[in-house]
Amino acid sequence: MTRIIAPGSTLGVLGSGQLGRMFAIAARRMGYRVAVYSPEDDTPAGQVADLEISGPYDDLDRIRVFAKSVQAITFEFENVPVEAAMAAAQFVPVRPDGAVLHVTQNRVREKRFLSQAGIPVAPFREIAGAADLPAALAAIGTPAILKTAGFGYDGKGQVRIERADDAAAAFAAVIGPTGVRGAAGAAPVAVLEKLVDFRHELSVVGARGTDGHVACYPPLRNEHRRHILDVTVAPAELEATVMQQAVDITRAVLETLHVVGVLCVEFFLTADGALLVNELAPRPHNSGHVTFDNAVTSQFEQQVRAVSGLPLGDPRLLCAAAMANLLGDCWDDGEPDWAAALATSPAVKLHLYGKAQPRPGRKMGHLTALAREGAEAERLVRAARDALCAPARDRRARVARARA
Ligand code: AMP
Repeated sequence: MTRIIAPGSTLGVLGSGQLGRMFAIAARRMGYRVAVYSPEDDTPAGQVADLEISGPYDDLDRIRVFAKSVQAITFEFENVPVEAAMAAAQFVPVRPDGAVLHVTQNRVREKRFLSQAGIPVAPFREIAGAADLPAALAAIGTPAILKTAGFGYDGKGQVRIERADDAAAAFAAVIGPTGVRGAAGAAPVAVLEKLVDFRHELSVVGARGTDGHVACYPPLRNEHRRHILDVTVAPAELEATVMQQAVDITRAVLETLHVVGVLCVEFFLTADGALLVNELAPRPHNSGHVTFDNAVTSQFEQQVRAVSGLPLGDPRLLCAAAMANLLGDCWDDGEPDWAAALATSPAVKLHLYGKAQPRPGRKMGHLTALAREGAEAERLVRAARDALCAPARDRRARVARARA
């Protein structure tokens, strides 16, 4: 029987972005203290935590000191070095553990794990150097996507290959100049993946407790723009067999990887109805933000419960909801119109992450709309975001018209 880390204890978070912020809000609501560790200051998570420590992730001595000051550690993005997780684990439970990080922070290891577990993925080839590309492209066909093995997210570190002739340039763009890194026969530095003709993108957020109990939220339907999540509709409202299969796969991933914590599985639903896993995130996920407003237990409360060794909460949705991300682009030329957005419907909720600099593509916050059905929630949240970002968009249109 695992010891419970009781409310009043301090939970440590490696990473300090919006996922850490929402974790800290959920933890503090349950009476925990929260300490965050990241290289930055005045961070989204640090602003709402009890304690914010700034330090590099590779300073293992500081990580050990941090670990000694908390009762358990979790993380909010998967690119924390495994060594940091291992160093912390000498003193306190790290959930999920370094072994889960090791698999999920590298696309090659992740694909190998999924394939070996019999979980369907898009056809892919491991790429150790530019010399591997012609044969891989011949096997997979074009169009294809070349993705770096490590440190990719939101479409970073990936490039689409339309024709075999583009392969060398694609390799140079993603990895570096041809031949400089990754000679044939060396460790893979990238994966080449077939471009999937998908009908929808889905995700399932699940959690596994220290007792092995698994709780999964219903599948969510996601739309991306420029490789970044744009809108999520919860639940996905697709065929029951697809919904069940996505949950079954997520459960299998959580159990096979022995995850203690929260993990999200991202899927493609192909035009002919097959589910393929795109990637895993061993933490709460952007698509799961809706659960803050429409689930019995949010994904962040679920993370608190799993990390603390408490029983998991009910993942059922109380109503349908949709979420629209707010990127820094919405701040182009000035302050978004908050009042106009919230005036579109009283069922719209605003979440902001406390980031001072609204850069294009940067996730600044999100809107959620609640409704009886997903389609209505989606309509409401899109209308709210249109109203919010209209000033910037109108100014851009006026500038474009003036230039024409
Ligand atoms: P990723 O960083 O792998 O999650 O990719 C970000 C987004 O790019 C995905 O959510 C898809 O919209 C798109 N994408 C990635 N891989 C593929 C693929 N093999 N086929 C089609 N679209 C893809």
